[in-house]
Amino acid sequence: MLYPGFNVFEKSINEINSFVVFMASENDETFIVIDAKNGADVTSLGFNAVSLGDGKFKAALTHENACVMRKLFPFTSPVRGLGKPVSFGLGDRLGIATPGHIDLFQNHDVFPMFAQQSIRELTLTNRTYKDVLDAASFAVFREGFKKGFGADGDHLKTAEDVEYALSLGFTMITLDCSEHIKNNAVLDSTIPDHYKTRYLDEKITVGDYPIVFSQDELKECIAVYEQAIGFAKDIYFNFFEKKYDADFEVSIDETISVTTPLQHYFVARELLEAKVKFATIAPRFCGEFQKGIDYIGDIAQFEKEIKIHAEIARHFGYKLSIHSGSDKFSVFPIISRETKGNFHVKTAGTNWLEAMRVVAITDPSLYREIHKFALSVFDDAKKYYQVTTDLSKVPDITGLKDEELPNLFENNEVRQLIHITYGIILSSKKDNSFIYKDRLYKLWRQYEDEFRKALVKHIGKHLELLHI
Ligand code: ZN
Repeated sequence: MLYPGFNVFEKSINEINSFVVFMASENDETFIVIDAKNGADVTSLGFNAVSLGDGKFKAALTHENACVMRKLFPFTSPVRGLGKPVSFGLGDRLGIATPGHIDLFQNHDVFPMFAQQSIRELTLTNRTYKDVLDAASFAVFREGFKKGFGADGDHLKTAEDVEYALSLGFTMITLDCSEHIKNNAVLDSTIPDHYKTRYLDEKITVGDYPIVFSQDELKECIAVYEQAIGFAKDIYFNFFEKKYDADFEVSIDETISVTTPLQHYFVARELLEAKVKFATIAPRFCGEFQKGIDYIGDIAQFEKEIKIHAEIARHFGYKLSIHSGSDKFSVFPIISRETKGNFHVKTAGTNWLEAMRVVAITDPSLYREIHKFALSVFDDAKKYYQVTTDLSKVPDITGLKDEELPNLFENNEVRQLIHITYGIILSSKKDNSFIYKDRLYKLWRQYEDEFRKALVKHIGKHLELLHI
């Protein structure tokens, strides 16, 4: 054995200058080991490390050491990748899913965003953007993944949050414009000339589709989207144009009304005419993209509309971004076909659900406890997520045998029950200690291989149906 005494992660062994740097674990702790050959001065690398004797040093997985690692080993730093034909967002709320994602993405020609979290998710899991980024970087180092990955500051709504994520090195920002979209607003004044010439006087076609605005439709576009477009412009010119090198996604999906192809065209053209460079737009598609379950709605209608949305994106030269993409199996082949294999899909909750499926398989009694707890806090959790869960359709688990518990994850009502309660499950405390969190993480450490396999299988099904 190369390094007796530790459990060495073989794929993490890297050499730099006169040092060998790798990751190892001992008991429940994972850390970086620096082997200074020929008595080289370890401080020259910059890690905050303690001596283990015999020329070896141990560095804890802190944010400071993550920053040093990213400098020394650039493959552990996120890079831009939204411009690639296919990119895929993997919201890992637990900070432990990346090894499983790497097993899968190692063999696929698709750019992964291993770090992707929204402010809502940060709040609900008590994590910070530093944690999110560091967890991805450490996993990439540990597993020796050198194909490149991205980091998405997801659904950011303020300039402060955007700047914070960018300053930490996030390589993608998803700007959530929803608070600036004025649904039901009306334009009382006449249509300004600069809009008239572009949208009423000009004959517009994208691909085979004529884009025809009536006066009223144009008035509505202006009234509903003008402020959101202004917001996106401000953010772009303040942060992206000169200051940070990152991909920009404009999200107009978190709103009550469906984005029509006309509205999509209007928003994209306004931004492009203002010289805003963005890689993706996330429209709100028809039907429902609820978290962690398949598409709900009229699939034929979805197909009809995404055809035009995809054509608009191709016309202007960016990609469609599909949010809440977890488990949308019935529409994945349509998305792949209509976008001609150019898209960004985001998933998040489904990774957490796979972690909970592992709990149901490996520790049925802990799962039962959490399931009952989730039922008791469901109404609270609903404040954060739009779901139509009917709790009366959740089977009574006291009547289920242990081996039947994993099948619960085939039931949409159970998926949503467990999906939206993640924050409360992970953060609830009794007598100052977590009720479930520590037990869960211990279990996931113990059954890491099962979790990895579950992710390869489940996220793999996403990739397969997206024809990746
Ligand atoms: Zn969204």
